Amino acid sequence: MTDTQSYGSLTVEEHTYKLPTHIRPDRYQLRFTPDLTAFTFVGEETVDIQVLEPTTDVVANAAELQIHSVAVVTYNGQTIPGRVTLDEINERAILTFPEMLSAGPYQLQLTFSGMLNDKLHGFYRSTYKDANGQDKMLASTQFESTDARRAFPCWDEPAHKAVFQTTLVIPEHLTALSNTAIVHETPLPGTGTKEVVFADTIKMSTYLVAFIVGEFAATDPVYIGQTPLRVWAVPGKRHLAQFAREVGAASLRFFTEYYHYPYPGDKLDLVAIPDFAAGAMENLGAITFRETALLVDEKSAARSDLERVANVVSHENAHMWFGDLVTMRWWNGLWLNEAFATFMATLAVDHYKPDWQRWTSFAVSRASAMVVDGLHSTRPIEFPVQRPEEAAGMFDVLTYQKGAAVLRMLEQYLGAETFRAGIALYLKRHEFANTETTDLWDAIEEASHQPARALMDSWVFQPGYPLLSVRTEGNDVIISQHVFRYLPDGSDLERLWQVPIFLRASTTQGEHSQTTLLTGKEVRLQLPSQPDWVVVNAGGHGFYRVQYSPELHECLTANLHDTLSAVERFNLVNDTWAAAQAGLTPMTTYLDLLSLFRDETDPNVWNVILASGQYLYHLLDAQQRPALQTFLRNLLTPIVQKLGWSPQDGEQELISQLRGELLSALGTLGGDTFIQAEARARYVQHTQHPETVDRNVVPALVSILASSGGAAEYEEFTTNFKTAKTPQEETRYLFALAAFQPADLFERTLRLTINSEVRTQNAPYLMRLLLLNTEQRERAWAFLTANWDEMGRQYPDNSIVRMCEGILSLVTPALEAEVVDFFASHPVKQGTKTMQQHLEKLRIAVAGKARDAANIERYLKQGQGRWHDAQ
Ligand SMILES: [Zn+2]
Repeated sequence: MTDTQSYGSLTVEEHTYKLPTHIRPDRYQLRFTPDLTAFTFVGEETVDIQVLEPTTDVVANAAELQIHSVAVVTYNGQTIPGRVTLDEINERAILTFPEMLSAGPYQLQLTFSGMLNDKLHGFYRSTYKDANGQDKMLASTQFESTDARRAFPCWDEPAHKAVFQTTLVIPEHLTALSNTAIVHETPLPGTGTKEVVFADTIKMSTYLVAFIVGEFAATDPVYIGQTPLRVWAVPGKRHLAQFAREVGAASLRFFTEYYHYPYPGDKLDLVAIPDFAAGAMENLGAITFRETALLVDEKSAARSDLERVANVVSHENAHMWFGDLVTMRWWNGLWLNEAFATFMATLAVDHYKPDWQRWTSFAVSRASAMVVDGLHSTRPIEFPVQRPEEAAGMFDVLTYQKGAAVLRMLEQYLGAETFRAGIALYLKRHEFANTETTDLWDAIEEASHQPARALMDSWVFQPGYPLLSVRTEGNDVIISQHVFRYLPDGSDLERLWQVPIFLRASTTQGEHSQTTLLTGKEVRLQLPSQPDWVVVNAGGHGFYRVQYSPELHECLTANLHDTLSAVERFNLVNDTWAAAQAGLTPMTTYLDLLSLFRDETDPNVWNVILASGQYLYHLLDAQQRPALQTFLRNLLTPIVQKLGWSPQDGEQELISQLRGELLSALGTLGGDTFIQAEARARYVQHTQHPETVDRNVVPALVSILASSGGAAEYEEFTTNFKTAKTPQEETRYLFALAAFQPADLFERTLRLTINSEVRTQNAPYLMRLLLLNTEQRERAWAFLTANWDEMGRQYPDNSIVRMCEGILSLVTPALEAEVVDFFASHPVKQGTKTMQQHLEKLRIAVAGKARDAANIERYLKQGQGRWHDAQ
């Protein structure tokens, strides 16, 4: 699986998906004239190419383009016209010339035209209403993975790096942005247009080219060294750009120091686009974002909204070096790009706001990857990608979150400074070039003198992760590993990982810490004396689960909040929950464990507890759910009462966020009618005097009113969604519409998903939430199946499989059978692997229902009484 071959010469099989290598593009000059009223564009292109082997055919990528003329100019100025054949299936243009082009330099000249499409890829259009309610249009690009070819004929593979010089001809009143600074902007007299000429880029891949045309307003620049950074939004939203400007500057400064390498572009623009399929895109010098990921009102936004912006901006900035300056050779290396940017963003945000404890909240991301990676249908982080379309399926939790988690594990094992030195060496050595994953391990091994490759290969090329079993014998701690699966079937028992063990123990001689590498099945560690308790995975950086012997478990939980850090408590709950889902531990043991967390104040620990409560709510039958709600109310009420509705003086922001999340859970999942009534009163207060309700509590009011509300609240939230003043408010009210229970209101929200009132960037996620509405899930499922084709026509391809995650609420054998049946004949366009994972997760829940539901019911009926007594 170690795919480290050179792609200089292609095997026969590779010819079907990779361009032939006898032509090398060096520099593109691009000129576009978009028409924002007819949704079209015309383009001209001159490419400096090197013919490496004599040929009559030049083969490049092109899709949904009409090519009107083609010619090559020889080094002595002779023009040779050619003809074009389009290979639509393989998205190629074959340019054929009447005579053999001998090896050497040529200029290739093309004219072409295309559509500004509405599918949010290639060169596409985006619409919005201005401050006067007028419809406005802008045009933007999104080229990763393989959509540059929809805007101009090109060698659309990451290894074909070249220099790009772009010119845009646009109406005089509009703004044009691209990867580099503007060299000059010249009116074209008598046409009402102007020509905007941009500087040459660095040598880079086609998927990083960007150009954007529309009405835009920018913040003042902030300078990081010589680099001006600006944030751009459509007019009327510039005042929401200050936070992104601040965090953009902070992270760019941080990365310049961390990478020990100056920013590789000549300026940096962060641009909010009203319609955007992903979260953001790291085009060098012109990063594009969906509005919720960039524009935010610092005064009214919840802390989590600010953190989202900080994460996404930092992630994209990290790519300017890792991804843009140094790029994967082929799409199999995509994981390293994304894993690294995710890792670096966490590092940068942790540096920017230490109070947010970003590495503790990263535990939630790590845990989400461990869910998928505990499935049979998981995959290794890196695997051979052949057809580039397969790359589209790699933008998932294994690439981003597992990838980042194993990088963090390596960093902690080697030491942060050693790891950083390896990264700096890697970037310097491969600047402007392409790499394989192995090149990174080479650099890290050189910097660290540690066997990084062997360690990482076991995590990167093998699917899954181990469960570590821990026991003691006298002074010895014995740790053994075996594969963790939710549906254990006895396979792959021989699979081993190189596991960095971070051990902390309490002994009679004080606290003892030790780091070691478990390479075999089992290791025996000798401690100075017999331990009272041991923590394996101290600090929580390991990508594995831990199961302690019953005696150790008891010692560890006896004094939980003194012994364990927040992330270690998170792991204890999370690992026990996973063991219960897998049937390795009784579900009642897990529910018992929760009683120890009634005073918990870490939001991440509560995150896993509340997610498990939601999971059980889907799993139980309607008549079993009230007992679960009582259980949850008993669990939540003491801490909610302690925190109250308003921040206390000097309170940490994380506590404010926790208050909001617990109130929301108690009023929705817990069904607490007192909290619901109070939320209604406070919502009214908020509408009259917004400053009287804490910004972290507002999302809770909205979710509680939606899940317990009727027609009046529905109308109000619909209006709020349409007139929202910030992108976060807009999505908050929109997504709240999925939580209403009355059937007629639910039907109205269902219709919203396909009637064009909701942007296609949001509609699939609204549909996902509708499916997750337990009471109405069958209605939502019927709607999805009836409108599947229409959704496929309207929504961005990448969103369909994400929408389908909503099937995880359909936890009955009959519904599961319907779901399996439906997807057997209705495959998703992108993300086949992810779809298999959704189905396996549903299988696990349905199996868990058969195994545990009656026990849980019995426990809740008894346990609830005992809990009541304890209060
Ligand atoms: Zn990324």
